[in-house]
Amino acid sequence: MRLSVVAVALLLPLAAAVLASAEQFDFFYLVQQQGCCFPDSGKPAAEFGIHGLWPNYAQCRSSAGEVGLVDMGVMRRKKCWPEYCDDGKPLSLWEIKDLVKQLDQSWPTLSCKSGKSMEFWSYEWRKHGTCSDLGQHDYFAAALALKSRHNLTAILADAGIVPSDDDTYFLSSISDAIAEGTGFKANLECNRDKSGETQLFQVYQCVDRSGNSLIDCPLPMQGKCRDRVKLPPFVGDRELAVADTSAARAAG
Ligand code: AMP
Repeated sequence: MRLSVVAVALLLPLAAAVLASAEQFDFFYLVQQQGCCFPDSGKPAAEFGIHGLWPNYAQCRSSAGEVGLVDMGVMRRKKCWPEYCDDGKPLSLWEIKDLVKQLDQSWPTLSCKSGKSMEFWSYEWRKHGTCSDLGQHDYFAAALALKSRHNLTAILADAGIVPSDDDTYFLSSISDAIAEGTGFKANLECNRDKSGETQLFQVYQCVDRSGNSLIDCPLPMQGKCRDRVKLPPFVGDRELAVADTSAARAAG
């Protein structure tokens, strides 16, 4: 009896530590972006590039019960996602060496500040990957597998939605095409081009906690879009578009 009390006393802190280390997020966002800048490895295929695979809470933590239309600014103040969960685990190129070719194609940096994709992957790993409950290899492999399973460019093209300097598209037709092509509703984020017109910037697809399967997005998002938006062709210059999401673009 005495022995079992001692054993429980010894094991409890261990169990608590294991529980504390598991990040309690609810789903991932797989975020794909249309960018303005080439990485050092050259012009990417003219399609969406991965921005990140981001663990997310279904409800922001500081206001229990509030699951309305969530605005980007509000999201930042309230802690709507975990980040920087383990600063002691920098990304190792060795761990992802077999994925680098695919990452260069599908997850290139489109930042106008740095053309080095490894810096981008390291940043995304530190900020989001360390909260994912996945190892480095599995984290990047999961994002690549999801992207290749659902080719957004092809899905939109099938619906007659192709990059253009002049045409605009109903936001609802982009949203419907993605829902039909992938089977799940995504969230859309827009920014402005140099002439102030609203263009599609990022697509947020929702993914289950394992990182394997798409789900319907549990949260709507106010992504600064209008009824009609442009789908810009990839031009690849290094000038920043006038974007109300410029912080997001510069960080990624
Ligand atoms: P990042 O490149 O990861 O720094 O993200 C760029 C921007 O996206 C940030 O400044 C945030 O506004 C937004 N963001 C980052 N993580 C999330 C998330 N999990 N859910 C929604 N928005 C996010």
